[in-house]
Amino acid sequence: MMSGESSVAKSLEGKVALITGGASGIGESTTRVFVEHGATVLVADIQDELGQSLCKQLGSPETVSYTHCDVKSESDVQNAVDTAVSRYGKLDIMFNNAGIAGEAEPRLIASNLHNFKRVFDVNVLGGFLGAKHAARVMIPAMKGCILFTASIVSKICMGLSHAYTTSKHAVVGLTENLAVELGEYGIRVNCISPYAIVTPLFQKTSGVSKKEKVEGILSAAGVLKGAILEPSDVAQAALFLASDDAKYLNGVNLPVDGGYSLNNQTWK
Ligand code: NAD
Repeated sequence: MMSGESSVAKSLEGKVALITGGASGIGESTTRVFVEHGATVLVADIQDELGQSLCKQLGSPETVSYTHCDVKSESDVQNAVDTAVSRYGKLDIMFNNAGIAGEAEPRLIASNLHNFKRVFDVNVLGGFLGAKHAARVMIPAMKGCILFTASIVSKICMGLSHAYTTSKHAVVGLTENLAVELGEYGIRVNCISPYAIVTPLFQKTSGVSKKEKVEGILSAAGVLKGAILEPSDVAQAALFLASDDAKYLNGVNLPVDGGYSLNNQTWK
């Protein structure tokens, strides 16, 4: 290898990606990995300062830039897709990753509708709008890749998590439905289901804020010993699904959980 040449395979060279929730956690890591692998990335989030400073850190605006986008708003999502196309000429990869866990949920009869609707608005409607507007520009191009972040709770029962669990089942349903509908346009639609990862979302939900303590809980509960799941593990799964290496994968719900969902029916 020539000196100064990167050893990273540029599997997304020439591709343009839009990543919602790209300012933090899994989205931030995916932004880093996609840029590293040659993609041009538009980060869409509601945490403007965080998103802007991430983009500055990763490269010039020709390679990676930020746009404000609340995925609950159709005009914001439409604008984010149009910004990707006007800034970078096209859209190849739409990663609908933004998500919230919502409030800690009580038993069913004490639950509140506001929380349920809020979680659905971000996790389901947000992804639906992302897919809708991405498809608007991908269909004429007869190619594209749409990804969602679902969750391990689409595969196991978490308990006392009505809104979040149901929303992630809906994300899988949406993935499968769209994979069938959009396949005829050469557009692949897949989702990823990670186990628990230490991100702001998880720390808020679990109520445990110390990274070491969270990692202790996770390593005790997981089936794969010797490794702690990190945002970059999900980013690598997204990288594969977004690349042409996965050209025949459509309608897949890929677990990134060390085998946890095979060994457990419920969250422990
Ligand atoms: P995170 O809180 O670090 O990141 C989520 C990002 O989404 C944040 O940057 C946030 O600002 C953004 N966001 C929230 N609401 C938004 C909205 N209305 N519009 C646009 N952006 C919005 O959390 P994370 O863990 O990286 O979560 C990313 C995805 O991964 C979510 O869909 C989450 O449900 C899923 N997930 C997380 C875990 C985990 O344990 N961390 C496990 C499985 C699935």
